[in-house]
Parts: sequence; C-alpha cells; structure tokens
Amino acid sequence: MIEKILIANRGEIALRIQRACRELGIKTVAVHSEADRDLKHVLLADESVCIGPAPSRDSYLHIPSIISAAEVTDTVAIHPGYGFLSENADFAERVERSGFVFIGPKPETIRLMGDKVSAIKAMKHTGVPCVPGSDGPIDGSNKHTLELAREIGYPVIIKAAGGGGGRGMRVVHSDATLLNAISLTQAEASAAFGNDTVYMEKYLENPRHVEFQVLADQYGNAIHLGERDCSMQRRHQKVVEEAPAPGITQEQRAFIGERCAKACEQIGYRGLGTFEFLYQDGEFYFIEMNTRVQVEHPVTEMITGVDLVKEQILVASGQRLRYRQGDIDWRGHAIECRLNAEHPETFRPSPGRIKEFHGPGGPGVRIDTHIYAGYVVPPYYDSMIGKLITHGEDREVALARMCNALRETVIEGIDTNIPLHRQIMKDSAFQQGGANIHYLEKKLGL
Ligand code: ADP
Repeated sequence: MIEKILIANRGEIALRIQRACRELGIKTVAVHSEADRDLKHVLLADESVCIGPAPSRDSYLHIPSIISAAEVTDTVAIHPGYGFLSENADFAERVERSGFVFIGPKPETIRLMGDKVSAIKAMKHTGVPCVPGSDGPIDGSNKHTLELAREIGYPVIIKAAGGGGGRGMRVVHSDATLLNAISLTQAEASAAFGNDTVYMEKYLENPRHVEFQVLADQYGNAIHLGERDCSMQRRHQKVVEEAPAPGITQEQRAFIGERCAKACEQIGYRGLGTFEFLYQDGEFYFIEMNTRVQVEHPVTEMITGVDLVKEQILVASGQRLRYRQGDIDWRGHAIECRLNAEHPETFRPSPGRIKEFHGPGGPGVRIDTHIYAGYVVPPYYDSMIGKLITHGEDREVALARMCNALRETVIEGIDTNIPLHRQIMKDSAFQQGGANIHYLEKKLGL
C-alpha cells in the first residue's frame, strides 16, 4: 500500500483526493503556490510545500518543483487531479523515472490518447464507434481532401490532433472554404499546441454529450460505471452534468459500456478514464478519451455507490479491481451544478473575499468545495469554486433537491453563477431532459 501521496493540484479536487487518502490511512502532501497558502486542503494536509509564485506555469505546471517537493517529503505517489499536468505524458514519465508512482495510466497511454488521431485509430481498432471521418491526418494541398469531404458529406469539422479545451476546430459547409479552413486550423494548431496535424470529421449538428466512466487495474481487468450526460455547456465548458443520461436504455449502456471496458483491456489501460461520445439519433460517436479523474465524477459515485477516487488510488497501488462488472448497479439519479466565481450573466470572473458562506444540506445533498467564510478566491486560476451534487430515487427528486440546495446556498462577497443554475433547473427543456449541446447557449442568447 502507498503510505504517502503528493497532491499536485489545488481547489476542490485537491480536497477530494485528500479525503480519499484519509479514509485509506494515507498521509498527504499538499503543494501550493504563494497565492494558495490558505487553501483548505493545504491547512488540513499532513505536510505542505510551497512550490512557487502564483502563475500556474511557475507552480502547478512547474515539473521540477513538484518532483523536488516529492523528494524532500519522501512521497510515494503523485496524484495529478484534473487539468494542470494530469494529461501531460512527459510529467507522468518524469514522475515514474524519479521513482514515484503516477496515479494515472502509463505515460505511453496518455500519449496515445492525447493525440486525437492516434486515439481514434486505436478506438476504431477495438470496436468503439467513432465519428465518420478522415481516418488520419489531412492536408490542405491535396485534391483528395475535397473528395474525402464530399464522401463524408458536408458539414464537416476540421480538428487539431493535439487540440483541447474546445480550441482548434473549424466547421466547413462547402468545397469553397475547405482548403482555406484546413490551412487556418493548421496554423492555429501549430501556434497553440505545437503540432499542426489536423483531421476531418462529419459535423454532427444536434448531438448530446454522453460519456462513459471506466476503471481498470494493472492486470488487464476493466469495468465501466455507466454514462453521464454533460450536454449543458457554454463555450464547450460543462455547466451541469447528470447520471444516468436521460433516455439511454440499459441495453445501450451495456453495449457501449462493454466496448469501452474491452478497449481498456486491449490498450492496457490502467486507472480511471472517460470515453467521451457525441450522441445523436440513437447513435454514439467517440470523440476523445480523458485519462484522468473528471470534475463530474461525483454523479457516477452517487448512483453507483463506488468511491472512484479511492478505487483509483487502490489500483495505482497495485491492487486488483475490487468490483466485477456484475457488481455495478445504478440507483436513482444524480445532478451536479458547477459553482463558479463569475457574474451569472456576463460570466466575468469574480475573484475576492468570501464574506459569508452557508452550505446546503438534507438527504441526497453533497457539496464538494474548498471555500469557507473568509477565504479569498485568487484571480490566477480557473473560476470553479466547487460543485453541488444531489441524488434522488429518480430525476424529479434529484432536481427538486437541487432546487432546494441552490436556494439554501449562500455565498456573499463575490458573484457566483448560482442564479444561472436556478434558471437552468427551472427550464422546461432541461426538466424534460435530453437537450443537446447547443441548447444552453441558445437559451442564453449567445
Ligand atoms: P476538446 O479536447 O477541445 O474538448 P473534443 O474533441 O472533445 O475537443 O470536442 C469538443 C467539443 O466540440 C465537443 O464537445 C462538441 O461540442 C464539439 N465537437 C467536436 N467534434 C464534433 C463533431 N464531429 N460534430 C459536432 N460537434 C463536435
């Protein structure tokens, strides 16, 4: 068993990981920037190390500082959380070469999945359904590219192989703009991701975002924990997530879930992972895999009763999966609202001191947050300050509990998006379930 884990992250996820460690009797090392001395998990950690100034590149993204902190504290394993270095294969490699356990997949798996062209190729090979597309890189100077686009059928989307965060994509509606769009996307991708490889996919016009959670050990065993619907998005950022996805049948869940688990076994996947799909007209289309814990993992925890972060740590420490597929069942419904320090209408970030904080409670209510009264939200990082999650025997109950929880939550001193969440929970299309990924932006008039 791992005795000590360094948490290479901040905010709510650092606290979430610390809680899992505590339950497992594992000591924690918090690393933090100069701006983050007052983070809740830093105050609660067994040990803490300041790894640099506020900007992420000098602290949470600065690999040598994190490795040094692990060395001076006699750390055994490093948990990367999400964002920051969590999907950086070079970091995972440095961690392992320095003699620490990386809590995540093997560096080569992160690399395989980090390049979308190689990820799609691998998934096609294992029988996971993908979006019809170019099956590899495309070139704007090639006549065949035009033929390919016609074959796939307009509209198509040009995407950067190294893209992320919803950047490096361009929709094309006809021959006239195709080649130009390819060179523009190549130039952007080269500047933003240092990789000018682009590929082409059919552009799906009204899809939902439905993703499958998987968990695998180092011995070739993998299971899936069902799906989440994350279609409520703004600028490709998820705002509300839920599990199960409305309208997805037990047969669809088993069919796609088993393919994802099989794919994990075939590529030698280990740890937690998420297969992201677009879902339209009853069909699933793989778009990418996330090789880390996700922000929205709690909705899956609430309906399966599996503590995903604890299981992630256990498999990283070399244990075999404690669950077989048949052990997983799904009970009720869970919804998550991401709480951001931002203006609810302009979305302008709103850092500053939290003067008052009262969390919600009651049956089926969970809040994952690092904030407290007196805490100052620094301006340097992502604006997410926590997550509100509710669970109920069905979607209606989960929704009613979310409405209550949002009403009970008081955060004063900064702006938050709680009013936006109240509006979404009252929206008739959301209440019905199954809205597509464009719905929220349309509703907001964006
Ligand atoms: P990133 O890594 O930047 O998040 P993704 O491949 O996950 O990139 O795509 C991000 C978003 O872009 C998707 O959630 C979806 O909204 C949109 N998108 C990507 N591919 C397609 C497609 N083939 N058709 C329609 N929308 C797409």
